[in-house]
Amino acid sequence: MATWIGLDIGGTTVKAGRVNEAGVIVARGEEAAPDELGALTSVCGSLIESVWANDVEGVGIGCRGIIDVDAVQVIVSPGRLRCLDGYRLSELAPAGVRVAADNDARAAAAGEMVWGAARGKRHAIMLTLGTGMGGAIVADGKMIRGSAWAAGHLGHLNVDPNGPMCVCGARGCIETYVSARAIESEAWAAVHRGTDTLLNTRGTDCATVFACAAEGDKCAAGIVSGMITRLGGFIGGLIFAFDPEIVILGGSVSLAGDALFGPLQRDVDARIGPFFRRSVEIARPGVGDPTGIIGAAALVRLQ
Ligand SMILES: [Zn+2]
Repeated sequence: MATWIGLDIGGTTVKAGRVNEAGVIVARGEEAAPDELGALTSVCGSLIESVWANDVEGVGIGCRGIIDVDAVQVIVSPGRLRCLDGYRLSELAPAGVRVAADNDARAAAAGEMVWGAARGKRHAIMLTLGTGMGGAIVADGKMIRGSAWAAGHLGHLNVDPNGPMCVCGARGCIETYVSARAIESEAWAAVHRGTDTLLNTRGTDCATVFACAAEGDKCAAGIVSGMITRLGGFIGGLIFAFDPEIVILGGSVSLAGDALFGPLQRDVDARIGPFFRRSVEIARPGVGDPTGIIGAAALVRLQ
């Protein structure tokens, strides 16, 4: 039996696991991510070693930022991972072992292609909706990576040139409207304005906003429905651009489940139906691995 190692390098933690042919993690480890290069690479190296076995066929690495996939090298990485700028990720694996690396959103999409909802599909879009929005596009069976590896940053598609300031430095990116942080900002603003809402006592995190909306809280329900309309418009536009067979929506926001996917599917259907005369499925991830390990392993499995 062959296995693959997946290494996920995130802003706060590094996780590694060995994944079998069924897409199941059979060994795993996790450490805090140091913000200094020597310490970080040594944590990565020892995590890979800790889950190693003789049947490992390759190491896949998911890492935040822009990754040169041919050179297996970080071009730029954000925030605390900035120490990785220019680093050759292939050096993390034992010599002679096959290594693949890509950004975390494309790793998630790779996981869906090998073991999840995009299996057997040649056209798929993946959105990871958490604190921000990551994206990946699979067209004609291939991951779209762009001329300088930066393609697929769908969270920064502009939906309002004068909109809120985004982490990327531009204004009005879609993630400033639909990410968990955006939902929480709107909830906090409502509380700050003194709105009569359950959010005053329950708190303003994303899951709480969905929970209060489900209980009929007018303020929370307004935030949720406004977010779904924005996201529906955005996904409708992506469908017009790429004509996918499926749109997979993952990340922490997707844990809202039916309260999100039901109205979102109806919204998207209404937008594209008159032109497409068909529905495009908005699906939950098939892998749904919050660790990022399975997607990272899929990067090397796909090679
Ligand atoms: Zn942006």
